[in-house]
Amino acid sequence: MGWSGAATVEDAEIADIFKHLAARDNLRMRAVSLSHEEIDGFYQGFSNGIIWPLFHDILKNCNFNPTYWPIYCRVNRKFAEVLARETTPNDFLWVHDYHLMLLGQELSRLQLPNRRGFFLHIPFPSLDFFRKLPWRRQIIDGLLDFDLIAFQTDRDRHNFLQCAEALAERFTVATDGPQVTHVRFLKRTAAGANAWRTIQIATLPISIDYSKMAADAASARVQHRMTQLRADLQERQMILGVDRLDYTKGILHRLRALRLTLERHPELRGKIILVQHLVPSRESIGDYAQLRRDVEQLVSEINGQFRTPDWVPVQYLYHSLSREDLLAYYRTANIALITPLKDGMNLVAKEYCAAQIDEDGVLILSELAGAAAELQVGALLVNPHDIECTAERIYQALVMPRDERLERMQRLRRTIRNHDVFQWAEAFLTAAAAPQAPVSKGA
Ligand code: UDP
Repeated sequence: MGWSGAATVEDAEIADIFKHLAARDNLRMRAVSLSHEEIDGFYQGFSNGIIWPLFHDILKNCNFNPTYWPIYCRVNRKFAEVLARETTPNDFLWVHDYHLMLLGQELSRLQLPNRRGFFLHIPFPSLDFFRKLPWRRQIIDGLLDFDLIAFQTDRDRHNFLQCAEALAERFTVATDGPQVTHVRFLKRTAAGANAWRTIQIATLPISIDYSKMAADAASARVQHRMTQLRADLQERQMILGVDRLDYTKGILHRLRALRLTLERHPELRGKIILVQHLVPSRESIGDYAQLRRDVEQLVSEINGQFRTPDWVPVQYLYHSLSREDLLAYYRTANIALITPLKDGMNLVAKEYCAAQIDEDGVLILSELAGAAAELQVGALLVNPHDIECTAERIYQALVMPRDERLERMQRLRRTIRNHDVFQWAEAFLTAAAAPQAPVSKGA
């Protein structure tokens, strides 16, 4: 169940689209429609204008407009009301991401008995950042109405625990394991009484369908497209960037690092090319439009500085890729350069490795991406704010001996294969099915 993403399509049309997808995938699906006011206040305003930048530590992009909050609450309530009509008491409810942090609480208000889990796809900030949120207490309280709350990394889980400890009533850690913490706290029930609750806080990093990615990357059509890309490269090495155009992705930092690499190593001029795909995203939010202008300006400066009659160092494409094209780029690229300033996971990093069936590519990865926690052994890690270090790593990757490339990529692929998206889903559902925590009446 979710918002269809459509702002202008009539409900009947959305229902048709859902019916078609549901029939294709043999699923029961339900769209919740949002008014224009709700899209502005709930989606663009509170979710993407406050929570997204704050949870990625980018305070300057937060617009703490107080009119967004009641609309965020209202939409969470709306989802709860639809869910209440669509579910039976034995259904397990799995809620995803920062748009629906109050849904557990709204379900409690409707006295729905269902067990419910929440997965946060983005990072959870430190207490220092989180306490800047005017509605910090309500968000923590809302989240504590789930039976299981899972995060991408230990960093996020520990940040959440610290915030909950500071903001929730009588919050204590009951047991602390390597992947799961049981916590206990006092909670006001819908009836107005106080009751003790124990819930689970877990680290469960999301992943990809590794086998499908690897199999599709080996298809004849991807192979054909890859041959074309290789021919276009004319023996040059390809450095690849694939990102939604978002200020968290460190695109400007990456471009500066490439410029420094070319300044420090003139012998590389004409021999490498950065292919940067930027997927259009949230275009109606001002910060995104500004970022696009900044990226285009810097690309043209770099190309102006180094270009020759038969070579431009940066090929910049503002578009969405087909899956085949994406896989062909993943396979062709000698290096994937992934430099987010902070990222929940970064699936592109995992997809690049899964598609590297020749096992000959190098992953350069920001240590501030969630993926770095699992991929640190095979990847070259960088602090994206350290332009000099990133430039050095680019050089290191370009001259890396083949044996080392193979060994690193084999390790990366093994890690991702052993922790694919099915294993992730299984782990979440297993944790959620653990015996219900006892709830005793308290003070
Ligand atoms: N992707 C896409 N269209 C494209 C290029 C990439 O849908 O044109 C996909 C990519 O395969 C990946 C996702 O977008 O699965 C990006 O996920 P990631 O975790 O890297 O970043 P997010 O955009 O969620 O912040």
